[in-house]
Amino acid sequence: MNKPPLLEVNRLVKHFLIRGGLLGGIAGRVRAVDDLGFALERGETLSLVGESGSGKSTVGRTILGLIRPDGGEIWLDGARIDQLSRARMRALRQRMQIVFQDPFSSLNPRLSVRDCLAEPLANFGLARGKAERERRIFDLLDQVMLPRAAADRLPHEFSGGQRQRIAIARALAPRPDLIICDEAVSALDVSVKAQIINLLADLQKELGLALLFISHDLAIVEHLTHRIAVMYLGQIVEIGPRDAVFSRPQHPYTEALLSAVPMPDPETKRRRIVLAGDIPSPRNPPQGCRFHTRCPYVFDRCRVEAPALRGPGTHRAACHLDALPGA
Ligand code: SF4
Repeated sequence: MNKPPLLEVNRLVKHFLIRGGLLGGIAGRVRAVDDLGFALERGETLSLVGESGSGKSTVGRTILGLIRPDGGEIWLDGARIDQLSRARMRALRQRMQIVFQDPFSSLNPRLSVRDCLAEPLANFGLARGKAERERRIFDLLDQVMLPRAAADRLPHEFSGGQRQRIAIARALAPRPDLIICDEAVSALDVSVKAQIINLLADLQKELGLALLFISHDLAIVEHLTHRIAVMYLGQIVEIGPRDAVFSRPQHPYTEALLSAVPMPDPETKRRRIVLAGDIPSPRNPPQGCRFHTRCPYVFDRCRVEAPALRGPGTHRAACHLDALPGA
């Protein structure tokens, strides 16, 4: 029998209710995630890419059980996890960790790096005795390429990139199968960004980790990811292997995002596609294709009929067009 994927998300729905008025009734709902699905294999990196407001961070938090979904299913290693109690979900965190954009939100500023790293080891019973704990802490610092002397210092004594290395070491401490990186390099300078991306790529290969890499920037994920899922207004509009998505995008939104990514060869230029307007509010997404208000190729059918994800093999897009004009 085939092994199930490490992570499987089926028809996931998360709507946030907006309360308002004098009686505190429901004034509306934000459709943050609507009927979204994907699978992630062991040792694979999938990047979830989209503008701010596309719902990608909600997907990450829902997988970790930090937010309860309103519909759909989440499976880890063949076991359904979206309906587990908070206590059972906490136990599962050993297998699923997250690295946030701002390491200060996950690192206690009053704890030394040693204590930050010792905490998950103690929580999950992963080091017996002081000597084993110390050895494990030094191993973690080696893995993220920080000097062992860093163990005695506080998070504020480090640069942004070094703090993110500490956050990655902390995420690695429980020996997880999956790390969700939620805009984990977005706040860093370009050169530091590249160093952290290289570090994550090396760790992913060395440890056989699965990474769900959430980012608003397609250019960042190119050298790290195996597959890309592009999100727009709570839905995946294109998903496929990295090279196929980069070289032959099938959705106009992906095409527009890619047109802003610099080419490695400065002599080669992409035709820049500037999308009109901002992403519509997820409180009131457009009927039909949700991208139709900004799509340069919109036609009548797009305004009334929502396209399903379709395509040959593993590269699929949600668009009524069979091919992009000019492709
Ligand atoms: Fe554009 Fe229509 Fe395709 Fe939507 S379905 S992306 S509006 S062409």
